Amino acid sequence: MHNAYIPFAEPKNEPVLNYAPGSPERKALKATLLELKAAPRDIPMYIGGQEVRSTEQTEIRPPHETQHLLGHFHKSNESHVHAAIDAALKARKAWAEMPWEHRAAIFLKAADLLAGKYRYQMNAATMLGQSKNAYQAEIDSACELIDFLRFNVHFLSGIYAQQPLSPAGVHNHMEYRPLEGFVLAVTPFNFSAIGGNLPTSVALCGNVVVWKPANTQVYSASVFMEILMEAGLPAGVINLIYPSGPVVGDICFQHPDFAGVHFTGSTGVFQQMWKSIGDNIARYKSYPRIVGETGGKDFVFVHPTAHVDAVVAGLARGAFEYQGQKCSAASRAYLPSNLADEIKAKLIAEIKTMKVGRVDDFENFINAVIDEKSFKNIASYLDAVKQSGGKAKILVGGTCDSSQGWFVAPTIIETTDPAYVTMCEEIFGPVLSLYVYDAEKWEQTLDVVDQTSPYALTGAVFAQDRSAIEIMAKKLVHAAGNFYINDKPTGAVVAQQPFGGARASGTNDKAGSVLNLYRWLSARTVKETLVPPTDYRYPFHSPESGN
Ligand code: NAD
Repeated sequence: MHNAYIPFAEPKNEPVLNYAPGSPERKALKATLLELKAAPRDIPMYIGGQEVRSTEQTEIRPPHETQHLLGHFHKSNESHVHAAIDAALKARKAWAEMPWEHRAAIFLKAADLLAGKYRYQMNAATMLGQSKNAYQAEIDSACELIDFLRFNVHFLSGIYAQQPLSPAGVHNHMEYRPLEGFVLAVTPFNFSAIGGNLPTSVALCGNVVVWKPANTQVYSASVFMEILMEAGLPAGVINLIYPSGPVVGDICFQHPDFAGVHFTGSTGVFQQMWKSIGDNIARYKSYPRIVGETGGKDFVFVHPTAHVDAVVAGLARGAFEYQGQKCSAASRAYLPSNLADEIKAKLIAEIKTMKVGRVDDFENFINAVIDEKSFKNIASYLDAVKQSGGKAKILVGGTCDSSQGWFVAPTIIETTDPAYVTMCEEIFGPVLSLYVYDAEKWEQTLDVVDQTSPYALTGAVFAQDRSAIEIMAKKLVHAAGNFYINDKPTGAVVAQQPFGGARASGTNDKAGSVLNLYRWLSARTVKETLVPPTDYRYPFHSPESGN
């Protein structure tokens, strides 16, 4: 047994491949898309290192090509949730005691496997299962997930190095224990990287995990699970199951060994989870860690001095990449009256150039929204605009087509009411709402931006006047956890823009930063007195001479 302290140096962000015509990566990705489409996958659960199958299966179809069958996964019931918890608890001791450099090496190896051998399989699975174009898959399921794996190792080695003071005669140290129990990771459909990060960041800290992804992300989640197993993750450390949300919640939140939840998804689901954890609080051995990154209604505020073309590019990318299904997507914009006509005309012209269709045609900028439920929800907002009695109107788009898949045209709504429903509620589709304000009143309009929605995830301001930027940054201090100046509000990169919002957008524990990892550790402080005192009395107890 060695006694070396082993640090892990800061890695570099994974370079993004561009998939331009003629590039080797484009050829490899296209070939992998065909391979995956030709061979439907039978996707088991992974419990205690074993593949587990059930009698109930759920079909997986590409959102952009609903006639095609990609495979199916084996649905989990109550007994699978119990088995996953038991397997995690069984693995706990050995995993917590495994020397740090061995634990770290597993996740670094997973990163290398994903960056090399599995890159195209993971990207193709994300493209087909979640309807992402090649570039959106590359920045998510390859680069961001690789970055999470590598940077978290570096961040954790930094935490372990932090030790308290030891004055003469005393030796102090801190041990960063994993939590006493299991952690539930519940992950959303829209980023394969979040699916991979929520269970692995927790496990890296020595914890054991039950991982429940969204049904609509199981296809790529299962590829990542195979990578983890090839990297040497011991049986039971992460258990991947596919129950319904309420089933997993009911069982995990009533378990005495429940030690925390790492969640990303909608605000309503997170609030429900928090309530049921509260209702069960007396059952647990420890107070559970509750970490959740949730919804957003992300703003772009355009100052009267903004650069018009930068605003147009920021809105086109920020609102419509991945069909607006990013928690950070620009979904409400405030345009000053002096620039509004020019911005609208240019933005509408750009949107009309955006091609909509399947992911295997790389010219398409917009693909399908995730499923029928989401499609219908978005359509209901568009229908409401058409019946809004002039409060709001559609400037471009507004159509939906489900004949081949769940396609919604990129849409801009303009409203004269800054509190109109599409300025306030998260729609999670390719829909941007605009409100034109009086350029003279830009400072008062910041109050409207701040108070319009309960969320505070991302926001962007565009201006060339530096003193205006200073005022905007101050007035909007609590309106966004990720604040952008002259840039779109999407596209946070691990270790560059730690990500998370406040207010109804989450606990702001900043995935992709050292802050997140602290939540999965429970420090033990150890003090040793080298030569302990042998008399309980202090000097001041001694009688004063002369009295
Ligand atoms: P969702 O809330 O519908 O689902 C998220 C996960 O929760 C899924 O695994 C789902 O099966 C599970 N779930 C659903 N009901 C449950 C219940 N009652 N108990 C336990 N689990 C339950 O979200 P989604 O549609 O997958 O993702 C989109 C949402 O996620 C949007 O609101 C988006 O803003 C948010 N999001 C936030 C961030 C962020 O970092 N803030 C990042 C990505 C997505």
